[in-house]
Amino acid sequence: MKPVQRRKSLAVDVDGVVIGGDAPVVVQSMTNTDTADVASTLEQIRLLSDAGSELVRVTVNNDAAAQALPEIVKRLREGGYKTPIVGDFHYNGHLLLTKYPEAARALAKLRINPGNVGTKHRDANFTKIIEVALEFDKPIRIGVNWGSLDQRLLTELMDENAQRDEPREAQEVLHEALVESALRSAALAEELGLGSDRIVISTKVSSVRELHSVYRMLAERCAYPLHLGLTEAGLGAKGIVATTAGLAPLLLDGIGDTIRVSLTPKPGGDRAEEVRVAQQVLQSLGIRHFEPQVTSCPGCGRTTSTFFQEMAEDITAYLREMMPEWRNRYPGVEEMDVAVMGCVVNGPGESKHANIGISLPGTFEEPKAPVYVDGEHTVTLKGAGLVDEFKVILREYVERTYGDVPSGQESAFSPIS
Ligand code: SF4
Repeated sequence: MKPVQRRKSLAVDVDGVVIGGDAPVVVQSMTNTDTADVASTLEQIRLLSDAGSELVRVTVNNDAAAQALPEIVKRLREGGYKTPIVGDFHYNGHLLLTKYPEAARALAKLRINPGNVGTKHRDANFTKIIEVALEFDKPIRIGVNWGSLDQRLLTELMDENAQRDEPREAQEVLHEALVESALRSAALAEELGLGSDRIVISTKVSSVRELHSVYRMLAERCAYPLHLGLTEAGLGAKGIVATTAGLAPLLLDGIGDTIRVSLTPKPGGDRAEEVRVAQQVLQSLGIRHFEPQVTSCPGCGRTTSTFFQEMAEDITAYLREMMPEWRNRYPGVEEMDVAVMGCVVNGPGESKHANIGISLPGTFEEPKAPVYVDGEHTVTLKGAGLVDEFKVILREYVERTYGDVPSGQESAFSPIS
């Protein structure tokens, strides 16, 4: 498969994590704890980082949150975490950043929403934030959101449109306003002295088709790296499907340098789900690999027991459990494909396409499971210990293929039986 041709963008270094240029698409996430609660916020940043979030954004909405930031970052670093922390500012960013310079120093990037930096003193407030970014050498994200679009700019563009001989659809003008808001703010930041390689842009909407339209327009009109995400994607399956539908066509066209998945978690739910979904979107598109993929069939009337579903789940859990160790010891293992199939119809074919696959017996088939390694039938497993035996074969394959295994320690399993 040919790699996706990425849109050419400037590279922005966020405390060691590069967004844009030739860097891989960065996965990021955001906490939902009260930032003033240092212990809870720290715990969630660690959780998100452990799941693979390469940047973590935190809300900075009041004095207590701004005051907590230096302590959060200090303790994070003491714990060995290098994840850059991004501050999310709305309404009072200019006040907090000037009142608490240590908060500005602790952050790796500042997110500014040009729609709510003020109305009367909008440019003055925006200027203050850029001055802080310059003083502490911090990159910024200009994050426009249609829920908080600069109404003055929208009115201006609507008025202009009304004067045209052939006025455009209101929705088109809205898209234009989103893009224009981001680009005008970026131009102002550059006029104030911020380098073009210190600016990331986003223009998020919550409608999939509008996201495509707005980001394509944005991608054509600037070289800033783009933070891509469907805002307010929603709960559960709806949020995951809408996010994938929103992000995938753009990512396949090379648009998007960092992504965030905005899922609404269930009360008490796992916040790291948004990180895993973001990784899975990139992995499914073949853009980045994070962990081995398990291909399993949906099952049908030919598999009346739940054995193969349980085995697929068991193997997926095993891979996830091993990855923290394997990732370091066996580079490239994250690209491995494993197939766990339910019967002879598609089982052998799919297993041969995977790096390693097993074709389980369907209900009326002989109770034996052929294993395929790099397309070759190597062994046939039977009996109650089948899952554990397959795990051993899997582990040995990983050691042999992605690491240096001393000779004489190859598979404990005999060839085809
Ligand atoms: S591989 Fe077999 S069990 Fe799985 S869906 Fe196809 S026919 Fe059904």
